[in-house]
Amino acid sequence: MSASEKSPRQEGFSTQIVHADRRGGAEWGAVHAPIHTSVQYGYERVEDLIGAFQGTLKGTFNYARQGTPTTAALESKLSQMEQGVGSICFATGMAGICALFLTLLKAGDHLVASQFVFGNTNSFLLTLADLGVEVSMVDVTKAEAVAQAIRPHTRMVFVETLANPGTQIPDLEAIGALCQEKGLLYVVDNTVLSPYGFLPAQVGAGLVVHSLSKIIGGHGDALGGVVTDTGRFDWSQYPNIFSAYRKGDAKGWGLQQLRKKGLRDMGGTLSSGAAHQIAVGAETLALRMARTSATALALAEFLQQHPAVAKVHYPGLTSHPQHAIAKKWFKGSSWLMSFELKDAQQCLPVCNRLHLPLKATGLADTRSLIIPVAHTIFWEAGPETRRAMGIADSLIRVSVGLEDAADLIADFDQALK
Ligand SMILES: *Cc1c(COP(=O)(O)O)cnc(C)c1O
Repeated sequence: MSASEKSPRQEGFSTQIVHADRRGGAEWGAVHAPIHTSVQYGYERVEDLIGAFQGTLKGTFNYARQGTPTTAALESKLSQMEQGVGSICFATGMAGICALFLTLLKAGDHLVASQFVFGNTNSFLLTLADLGVEVSMVDVTKAEAVAQAIRPHTRMVFVETLANPGTQIPDLEAIGALCQEKGLLYVVDNTVLSPYGFLPAQVGAGLVVHSLSKIIGGHGDALGGVVTDTGRFDWSQYPNIFSAYRKGDAKGWGLQQLRKKGLRDMGGTLSSGAAHQIAVGAETLALRMARTSATALALAEFLQQHPAVAKVHYPGLTSHPQHAIAKKWFKGSSWLMSFELKDAQQCLPVCNRLHLPLKATGLADTRSLIIPVAHTIFWEAGPETRRAMGIADSLIRVSVGLEDAADLIADFDQALK
């Protein structure tokens, strides 16, 4: 059930996004929230400066590493989109993910993570293991695998709603119920679906992570990341909160620690310029999600019946192993897909014969992007990891952009001949 379906009186997703900025008051009547570039924030009275430091004077800023009015406007927009209680933006998705792991876990803790995660997240989990956090990477399409991995010192379960490039979908609801039962923090990287396509809070996620560099910003022109607290997790039960942040309403403890220890101390701050670009991009999220997911479905159906194609990984196809979960929980499907060729030797020639999609890494630009996976993003992982992750040598990932579906299909048709 999406925000717009919850109650007939509640405004729809796009209405909320495009009007969110002005509802907290508009400076000079500006229709779009202005970009604040000041690093320092000064006060007439020293008591107000103290209030800004101690957090007793709300809605104030002191040093831009901890946020500006521009990043704060984006944070409130993102909280609204995820129906969360608060958000913290970061310079990139990885900055947010690293800050989250490093501030909420410590040596001796145990983390259960999906074995199908973003390549750099996977690489960072190895760093985390080196720092003394035990990490179990499991097949999250099976909730039993998660249940079996849980130990007495498990603190957190981390999954991605739709894995790149294999499009695996975790048993989101069952894992949520398991986390609830065991009192574990359930963290969902919702980058591919976006809050338009899926709200992880509905399956009990405590924290939601997004790379804003992908479909939310949506134009391939700004990097960013965000962590949103859904309000579902009881922080008073979480042992890793510093005593300094165990004050007041426990609902705010997790984000407070993340803002201080993660953003302020680690410094992966989103610039105001990028925050503004992402906020403008986010206004058309619903339009771009609907368009790219319809195009992707048409392309997936075309590829699935093509004699040169061995397999298409796309959740909108009934042949997808987790199609039922996608149908139950996701609005539309995704702009991300991948496919395997029958003849692995044809992988690079097919890429080269495609004219419209750019041969590029990255995801969710306005332009379609393709990349041969084994030769690039999973090259460093090595053949064994690739086999374990089900990444075939002929696998081509497609990030579907805003081109007309007929043009894309015609291009794939000529490239596969
Ligand atoms: C891209 C991506 C990230 C990292 O985001 P950046 O903004 O590139 O740092 C994390 N998770 C997923 C699922 C992604 O696709």
